[in-house]
Amino acid sequence: MTAGRHGLTFWLAAEADVAPSISAQAAALTAATALLKHLPMRGPCLCAVPSSETITGRGGMTHDLQFGWELSGSGWATCLIKDGSSERKDIVSYCTDALADLLHGVAGLYGPLPVQRFSFDLEPAEVRWVLRGRGSEVDVAIHRFPDMSASLDAPDQKGTLVWASTQPRDLLGHVVLEAAQSVLQAHGEDGYRAKWVRHSFPIAALQDLRRLHLQHDRCELRHGVATPQAAG
Ligand SMILES: [Zn+2]
Repeated sequence: MTAGRHGLTFWLAAEADVAPSISAQAAALTAATALLKHLPMRGPCLCAVPSSETITGRGGMTHDLQFGWELSGSGWATCLIKDGSSERKDIVSYCTDALADLLHGVAGLYGPLPVQRFSFDLEPAEVRWVLRGRGSEVDVAIHRFPDMSASLDAPDQKGTLVWASTQPRDLLGHVVLEAAQSVLQAHGEDGYRAKWVRHSFPIAALQDLRRLHLQHDRCELRHGVATPQAAG
């Protein structure tokens, strides 16, 4: 499966102390160009397709954080998260509304529940993100299970911890929001639906995270939604 080799990649990098570099990175963002290639329509959801993965090691203590979400083929997205010391990349299937789950999970960190969990379907593996809020920081842990059909109810510890990092919540919220907005900017809602097939672009979840991020994180960037001129 070569889904991860094609399409758009958006990189969002920022540092802990925050606003100037965030603005600069955001400015660079909209310079991204579309390199869409035609990929064959994918088969049914339950087919077992090997996923491209990068197994990485220990959690980083730095606050460097990059996050990318790329529609890499019909029904596939490449999710990559990277801190100062390691990265994790997964090819995520449209079997779940993955981008919506991600946005809801990160938005949940602004609410009363300190732990947020959501899973991506790699067909057949499960990759489970566990976000634990601790004050202004979030412990991010990604656990991998070989067969999602057997592991959805399994405790986190039954999986393999494949990536972990502690990051400021404002930074995590920022890079995830930016990545999601970049997807919308590149594809539009119709284009997203055409590529992701099973689910529409999660515009409500995006707006919710944007509202929470702006309200709580004092980000200088206004994160205008679907405004291609934002970074001129
Ligand atoms: Zn921001």
